[in-house]
Amino acid sequence: MLKLSNYINGEKVPPLSGLYMDNFEPATGKVYSLIPDSDDQDVAGAVISAQKAFPSWSSLSNEERGEWLMKIADKIEEQMDLFAEAESKDNGKPVTLARQMDIPRAIANFRFFAQAITQFSSESHHMQGVGLNYTLRQPLGVVGCISPWNLPLYLLTWKIAPALAAGNTVIAKPSEVTPYTAFLLSEICTAIDFPAGVLNFVHGLGPKVGEAICVHREIKAISFTGGTATGRRIASVAAPMFKKLSLELGGKNPNIIFADCDYKTMLQTTVRSSFTNQGQICLCGSRIFVERPLYEKFKTDFVEKVLELKMGDPSDEKTKSGAIVSESHMNKILSYIKLAQDEGGHVLAGGERKHLSGRCEYGWFIQPTVIEGLPFNCRTNQEEIFGPVVTIMPFDTEEEVLAYANSTDYGLSATIWTQNLNRAHRLAEKLESGIVWINCWLVRDLRTPFGGVKNSGVGREGGMDALHFFTEAKNVCLRY
Ligand code: NDP
Repeated sequence: MLKLSNYINGEKVPPLSGLYMDNFEPATGKVYSLIPDSDDQDVAGAVISAQKAFPSWSSLSNEERGEWLMKIADKIEEQMDLFAEAESKDNGKPVTLARQMDIPRAIANFRFFAQAITQFSSESHHMQGVGLNYTLRQPLGVVGCISPWNLPLYLLTWKIAPALAAGNTVIAKPSEVTPYTAFLLSEICTAIDFPAGVLNFVHGLGPKVGEAICVHREIKAISFTGGTATGRRIASVAAPMFKKLSLELGGKNPNIIFADCDYKTMLQTTVRSSFTNQGQICLCGSRIFVERPLYEKFKTDFVEKVLELKMGDPSDEKTKSGAIVSESHMNKILSYIKLAQDEGGHVLAGGERKHLSGRCEYGWFIQPTVIEGLPFNCRTNQEEIFGPVVTIMPFDTEEEVLAYANSTDYGLSATIWTQNLNRAHRLAEKLESGIVWINCWLVRDLRTPFGGVKNSGVGREGGMDALHFFTEAKNVCLRY
């Protein structure tokens, strides 16, 4: 059986404990590889190698570091099919989605930050007749990057690319549920002779490896994407040590649809924004609010389109809806569907585990599920489910839907569908959300600030925000 290894100091190494864990293929429910069950000793070794590598890596010019990132991007692109198939097998997502979204966006992350660092500049503040301040932006040293399982390579590279570009050395911990593409990335580093110790992957469990990264004194910053409860735990450990923290957490995103919208585009996009990646994207809209005059038509058409989504083996090019990432997550989603029914919700589509035949007989599949008849403030509409489950609700006025949309503890993204742009901008200003899409969804410009408010996170990733996070500002004041 395939045994993954850690990547420390430029070498593939086994965990010091010699222990491994099972890695499952969600589509079959079977173990297909073993991953290191690393611990704090492996993290300690990785930090020593990252510290050793820091002086030379941080003294390279921005252009030289950018060239290294470009080499990584080119190599991933050369192996697009290998990466897409690996991501699909490990996560359960349709291989076409991995090929069209996850892997191209991972490549784009490296290319974007390879170029962005060459445009990075710092501020100066002139004090007339007195002197001059200028700001140095220096890398932090060794930083920790911890990422989730839903967009494994995409979200990992979204962190490590800016961290490396800015001159830091990195200890990365991919989700133990989806470690495979990070392992392939370490093989690319070996193939291109990437400088040893600059990028280290330590595989293993969050409470062991993730926690060891957060408590290590020499790790200066933690960039984390994952659930809100884990983010809270990380903050409680890292904040008292005064580490820099970037926390990208959960969401319960509203999708607000007015009767005057461009109906066809809205309908197509709403199917995508509800069920892409089996609804396991932090930006998926899980609460759909529809203006009352459009509600019945929307309900009929939406349910019809959802029932057309082809569920199946993720490796099949025609599959639109793949497997849920793990058995425990599948059970969590199913328990929320049950809760929705207990709360009085009426299931219009889906609602159950799906048993496929053949290779995927024991896979973890849930039908795309649409529920109506629930109040905005019930648990189903307040808690993050993070699966192929959406609720639909009618509304009458702008004020009412704004109150519904802002009613949760979360504030990651929101979508508004209307041709009335005055209304769209008015709402965009008032929505408690880090990201607002008007008449579109998941359109991403990597220069823009990315992140949430309330329990959806602290800090912003993307563009110059990421480069600011991964550098420390030092003001130098000169008197004439
Ligand atoms: P988790 O919070 O369970 O895990 C995220 C990462 O943190 C994993 O690598 C995990 O390791 C690790 N981890 C777990 N416990 C600790 C700990 N005590 N200290 C340090 N690291 C730890 O999230 P999921 O992987 O389940 O991802 C789904 C969540 O991510 C959803 O809530 C979703 O909304 C959110 N998310 C947010 C995004 C955003 O940009 N705001 C984007 C994508 C997802 P292990 O896998 O071993 O448990």
